[in-house]
Amino acid sequence: AQSTARPHVVLLASPDAGHLIPLCELARRLVEHHGFAATIVTFHSLSDPQSLPSSLPASVTIAALPAVKIDDLPADALRPVVLVEIIHRSLPSLRTLLRCISSDALLAALVPDLLCFPALPLAAELGVPTYIFFASNVTLLYLMHGLVELHDGALPGEYRDLPEPFEIPGGLSLPRADLPDGYRSSKDPVYAGVVEACRQYLLADGFLANTFDEMEPATVEAFKQVVDRGAFPPVFPVGPLVRSNSDEEAAGGASPLLEWLDRQPARSVVYVSFGSGGALSVEQTTELAAGLEASGHRFLWVVRMPSLDGRSQAFGAGGDDDDPLAWLPQGFQQRIEGRGLAVAAWAPQVRVLSHPATAAFVSHCGWNSTLEGAVAGVPMVAWPLHTEQRMNALLLEVSLGVALRPRVREDGGVVAREEVAAAVKELMNWNCDQLHHLIYLVLLLLLISFLARPSAFYACSITHLLLQRSGMLQ
Ligand code: UDP
Repeated sequence: AQSTARPHVVLLASPDAGHLIPLCELARRLVEHHGFAATIVTFHSLSDPQSLPSSLPASVTIAALPAVKIDDLPADALRPVVLVEIIHRSLPSLRTLLRCISSDALLAALVPDLLCFPALPLAAELGVPTYIFFASNVTLLYLMHGLVELHDGALPGEYRDLPEPFEIPGGLSLPRADLPDGYRSSKDPVYAGVVEACRQYLLADGFLANTFDEMEPATVEAFKQVVDRGAFPPVFPVGPLVRSNSDEEAAGGASPLLEWLDRQPARSVVYVSFGSGGALSVEQTTELAAGLEASGHRFLWVVRMPSLDGRSQAFGAGGDDDDPLAWLPQGFQQRIEGRGLAVAAWAPQVRVLSHPATAAFVSHCGWNSTLEGAVAGVPMVAWPLHTEQRMNALLLEVSLGVALRPRVREDGGVVAREEVAAAVKELMNWNCDQLHHLIYLVLLLLLISFLARPSAFYACSITHLLLQRSGMLQ
């Protein structure tokens, strides 16, 4: 049972795994390390069941708001647009819930994830301090802020008019092709959403970003100047919020996939996954299969339904009867038996990455996967598909030197089988010199996680932050 004496934090979760998983981890830490009570509010059951961690402590309450009608929205409305609309329409029931919680306990803070910004005016109306949970990096915030400056005319034109690549502090040059989807033209439907989000973000007291200084030191530093001139709320890098292997193990138990990994030699397996929403074309699926086979290395591949409409993003695509493995080349499964394993749809990724047999990660560079790879000390083949993943891939390859990026064929954007095989072989041959930055990150993260657990040092900073604004600390 929840003690009403504990200050309460209410976290608002949009349903995608990439947001929900780290938000649940934040809630767990607020309760276990910082003495808060926490409620996670969900809006609509659009999420994969796997994305709800089963290991939440009893003191984290899940409150599902009643479903709202959305059948008037166009059938082809983009997923983020639908999510934001659901949140808008759920505000009356959220207001009732927040009033109910605050009649019982001190409501210390509201923590909406980055898509739940429509709740910010409501928090202001109720006088509740608000910290946006940003399940990405400060580099993306820097870009979002840059987009709004261009939009507002502080700089001339739009990103698409920029003659040169967009410069990120720390020497990262973003060519236009690597800008996130929606940032390249004001005609893109995502563009208006980014501008609206940034305007609403100004109402927040700050951001809790799932990153840490050493992942992007120059950008974190440069962003402080943006904050100092009052152009944006402060950003607190509170990451990496990554599930721990032991929590996953307690929640997941045994699985045939992990038993297969147990039988492989140490640091011999390449793990291949494109996240919870990444979809490859049928042609790309064939090329990847042939490339993995030709690499001669052991591999574990999480295969998702291919995209038939050319979109690289396909959350929730495929019904229960669809079998992604049916799209693999003829005879592939027999040929790779013993050396490779292809599994449908989902794998316990944190457990796979931290398994002693796993040596490398072919990843779509979603930010959670990126952090999970860094925590596990696994170098990556950076294979971005959508949203801000191309930018994350550059960060990994150029700034941090912990990944290599395969060349995409110019005719049609496919990574050819020879390129897949060459990238895997090269990564598996990386020596200590090439791995030194990764080793540094792993050691640093071990230190952070050591401090984050029982220590007063880290616990104080986040507790202090949340309680100070709510008036509980003077
Ligand atoms: N994930 C997983 N198993 C899978 C695919 C994804 O556990 O087979 C988890 C992964 O560990 C990560 C999240 O789902 O925590 C995906 O988030 P990310 O930001 O990497 O990518 P997105 O799915 O948002 O594109």
